[in-house]
Amino acid sequence: MRIARFLTDKLRKLAAPEWAFSPTLIAVRNGFLLCLPIVAAGVLAVLVNNFPLPWYQEEMLRLFGDNWKSFGGLVWQGTLGIITIPTLVGTSYHMAMQQNHARPLHSTNPVIAGMVAVASLFIIIPMHDDYGLMYWLGTPGLFVAILVAITSTRLFLWLVGSERLRIRIYSEGLDTAIPQAFFCLLPGILTLLVFALLYGIFFRLTGSTLHQFVHDCILYPFGIIQNNINTGAVYLFITHLLWFFGIHGPNILDPLTHGMFDTALQANQAAKAAGQPLPHLITKQVLDVFVSMGGSGSSLCLIIALLMGSKNNNSRRLAKISLVPGMFNINEILLFGLPIILNPIFLIPFICVPLALMATSALAIHFGLVPYPMQVVEWTTPPLLGGFATTSGSPAGIALQLFNLAIGTLIYLPFVRISDDVKTERQKQAMGKLMDVACNNQVGPGGKKCLDRDDEVGVLARVLAYDLQTALTRHHEDAVGLFLEYQPQVDSRPGRVMGMEALVRWRHPGYGNIPAPILIAVAEDGDFIDDLGLWVLRTACKERARWHEAGIAADLKTSVNASVRQLMNDRLPEVIQSCLEEYRLEPRMIGVEVTESVAIDPEAPHTRILQRIHDMGLIISIDDFGAGHSSLIYLKYFPVDILKIDQALSKDVVHNKVCSEVITTIVELCRSLDIKIVVEYTENREQIEVLQDLGCYIFQGYFYSKPLKGEQALAYIQHMNESPG
Ligand code: C2E
Ligand code: MG
Ligand code: MG
Repeated sequence: MRIARFLTDKLRKLAAPEWAFSPTLIAVRNGFLLCLPIVAAGVLAVLVNNFPLPWYQEEMLRLFGDNWKSFGGLVWQGTLGIITIPTLVGTSYHMAMQQNHARPLHSTNPVIAGMVAVASLFIIIPMHDDYGLMYWLGTPGLFVAILVAITSTRLFLWLVGSERLRIRIYSEGLDTAIPQAFFCLLPGILTLLVFALLYGIFFRLTGSTLHQFVHDCILYPFGIIQNNINTGAVYLFITHLLWFFGIHGPNILDPLTHGMFDTALQANQAAKAAGQPLPHLITKQVLDVFVSMGGSGSSLCLIIALLMGSKNNNSRRLAKISLVPGMFNINEILLFGLPIILNPIFLIPFICVPLALMATSALAIHFGLVPYPMQVVEWTTPPLLGGFATTSGSPAGIALQLFNLAIGTLIYLPFVRISDDVKTERQKQAMGKLMDVACNNQVGPGGKKCLDRDDEVGVLARVLAYDLQTALTRHHEDAVGLFLEYQPQVDSRPGRVMGMEALVRWRHPGYGNIPAPILIAVAEDGDFIDDLGLWVLRTACKERARWHEAGIAADLKTSVNASVRQLMNDRLPEVIQSCLEEYRLEPRMIGVEVTESVAIDPEAPHTRILQRIHDMGLIISIDDFGAGHSSLIYLKYFPVDILKIDQALSKDVVHNKVCSEVITTIVELCRSLDIKIVVEYTENREQIEVLQDLGCYIFQGYFYSKPLKGEQALAYIQHMNESPG
């Protein structure tokens, strides 16, 4: 057990090193993710053109004529055919946004950064060499495109940061395009000039374009190694290592492998016809049919491992989406979506699985367990069918594919778990950061707290906002995952519950329980706080009506929290009124808690609304008093019935003299203004006793009770209020 844990730890350190989460690599991976719609369209086009059923191909030919593949060809040309451009723009965009986030005052338009990167690529891309422009715009040029995106965007952003290079032109009105364009003018020009200059020097020194240079470097090892089995292993090793860097190995090596592996198959076929022993063990058929099941990295094994072993909903969803193209050995969606590229967690199995499967296939063929695969099959032929067809109808071909699928899945499984752990940890971190942002009163330049951020926090916030809004609009009455808990406010003198605070809760299907302040922040940012508030109010009223029917006295109020944004809504008093009427409640059965920082401005519009709500007979509490904006003087301007002392004062009251003195002052003032005091965060008896000595008698906190679900809350009230003393 201990050894297993030790090995997992070591593997984890190896597979998920710190550098893998450097901002640049994250930007590259996110850049790939942005390309998913384009990649998916390309994959569809490939599938339409290469669907491996002879009658399908014949029917298409009959229906649409000789050129029937040109439709898929056009789609392919506009998607996977030029995949370098979206990848480059995506990477550059994310790098610019990362910098904008780190230095909001020096924000750069990320689209301009992307355009500069595209221009940089076109400075160096070979237009008229043997391969031609379109070749380099496709997957063979991906690696150089990533290099260009990183270097040109780094340079551009660095230059943008320089005070001296900024040209400030202020537009009339509020049009941001003019200042942004001029802001980037000199940095843009300089980036492109430096790029052209460096490239000129490179060309002079090497006599080759950068694209050709990288290409030659990749092909170099194949010139040295000739032996067939070694070449097979080296081929697999290199193609998969290249994929890690975003280079489509099979495409680049195609001219070479075509010759090598095709000759091997032909030699085998000739030897068989002549009744001689077959000279080659590894042919392209072996690699295509028994090794690359699902595409490079034997990705069908990864898909199965994700479906079987991943607890991460997103990964499972991606695996499901990738399954259909994966059955036809097309794996771009998985490679771009997981992503595999520049993701060290999957590097080890991505290389090892094909090598292991080549070994098992070679052994099985060598020992005669499986016939030599002699029949050529279309590369899109699904596994099992492929094994059957290439061995001229031998069940052993199917058995070997099944065996290989099982081996590959087993190798992938521990890495899927590691990937899950890393994702969960990062999710937790992002949730923690989002919580900090939500609890902080600061808003960004766009007037939002979290929804417009371009880091992981922003992504998480947007997912939550979307799901929360969907939950509220689709199932308003019974919003999925949303519910209320009620925390008792107990008057300690008779030991009686005098109120309940309704606290909103959300169990998200993917992320689990989401803290209330995050819900409020995303609902405010997303402009649907009124919908959430209405849901809370209606649910609390419905529950209060149920308690009323159960015989709970009318002087017990349920209070709901209201954020400042809700109090800005002129219609709030009418909404409350209609809720009271719908559930036949007296106004004193419901209260509103307003955070103190909100309430201190006597001139603000929400004060009038608060006054109207108070005039209707609802009980108004000032929440979190003492949390920072304590202004006793304003109490007299507000319609306040209850003042809730925050943890900032109550937590340390036993040991901190300042806290107890401040509380004494508040108690005296409230007595003279006829305002009740509730002390929050009372967790132990010592605290309660000290607070009672200071003149506080109503408490809310874990000492009496944690927040409770509706039924439990009713049972608590009945127990406390019906038992004497
Ligand atoms: P709040 O109104 O001050 O609510 C009290 C918070 O303190 C609750 O956290 C409660 O669970 C927690 N708490 C109570 N007693 C104790 C204790 O003894 N120890 C500790 N450690 N914690 C205690 P929760 O539910 O996470 O709510 C946090 C804040 O979110 C609330 O602070 C309130 O400002 C806001 N909120 C909650 N529900 C709603 C809602 O429906 N609408 C609005 N606008 N805001 C809400
Ligand atoms: Mg409250
Ligand atoms: Mg509070």
